Amino acid sequence: MTEQTSLRGNVRSGRTRSGGTSQKSAPARAGAQAAKSGFGKKTIALVYDFDGTLSPRPMQEYTFLPKIGEDPKAFWRECNETARAQDADPLITYMHLMYKKAKARGVRIDRDDLVALGRDVELFPGVDEWFGAMAEYIQIRSELSQGVELRHYLISSGLVEIIEGTRIRPHFHNVFASEYWFDPYDLPYPKRVITDTGKTQYLFRINKGIEKLGDSINEHMPEAERPIPFSNMIYFGDGDTDVPSMAVTRKNGGHAIAVHAGGKARTKCVNLFKAGRCDFFAQADYRRGSELFKRTTLLIDRILADIRVQEETWRMARAIER
Ligand SMILES: [Mg+2]
Repeated sequence: MTEQTSLRGNVRSGRTRSGGTSQKSAPARAGAQAAKSGFGKKTIALVYDFDGTLSPRPMQEYTFLPKIGEDPKAFWRECNETARAQDADPLITYMHLMYKKAKARGVRIDRDDLVALGRDVELFPGVDEWFGAMAEYIQIRSELSQGVELRHYLISSGLVEIIEGTRIRPHFHNVFASEYWFDPYDLPYPKRVITDTGKTQYLFRINKGIEKLGDSINEHMPEAERPIPFSNMIYFGDGDTDVPSMAVTRKNGGHAIAVHAGGKARTKCVNLFKAGRCDFFAQADYRRGSELFKRTTLLIDRILADIRVQEETWRMARAIER
């Protein structure tokens, strides 16, 4: 059952089917309309990193690297060494090296193959049911605030193509990830590379409702016109690469949760928590009743309460003007 089919009543689910670039600032339009007809800031955005957050390992390790006969550890080591030696961006380096090595080994992997590889990407326990469970939770809790919409977004340095092949892709309103250009070059060429700091651009795109990547994000937009305030956002990440996104989200009034795979990996989250990067941390167990589930819904309760307070203020202000 998908998030959409499981929805009843007042929780609207928003998502695009086409990789998300087809809608021209729909939230911005909705926000502008709502400003006339009703309180417009009722969209909650749960924004996720992918590798290490929803999936235990980097997505390339499940299928692409085995397919070209690469040992993951050796591959990432070579990426880092090459990037350092050449003063190159590590993400561009990994995207280039993947295909350089595939070619050297005579393995042809086109876009469709890459999408097909997504099917084998492993997810943390409960991820499949998480989207439906969150929709249901908001459905129950938002009865006093009709018209709350829940959206899930993905911002990843991994590959759009692999994510497209995963079974959870349909739950995302939009996916922002690194991507290849397959046609114009001898080897597939990075079309878009999403670095750690680059991720923050996409948070602002969600915030401003400018999700079409061809539209400029830099123009000033007053807070009042931004359809999804940061205070309605929760960012989920697992490590240092998420620090810029967590910092931007929290500094702008939003929330962040750090997740870990258990064992030693917990230390990273403890450090993020101590450094004030996240509101909470928890093991990446997405099943109902887990610590992650409880802490997420606690933040959602707060967001819903905030929405009600703001909506009431908005109503009063309108009543006075009449
Ligand atoms: Mg990660």
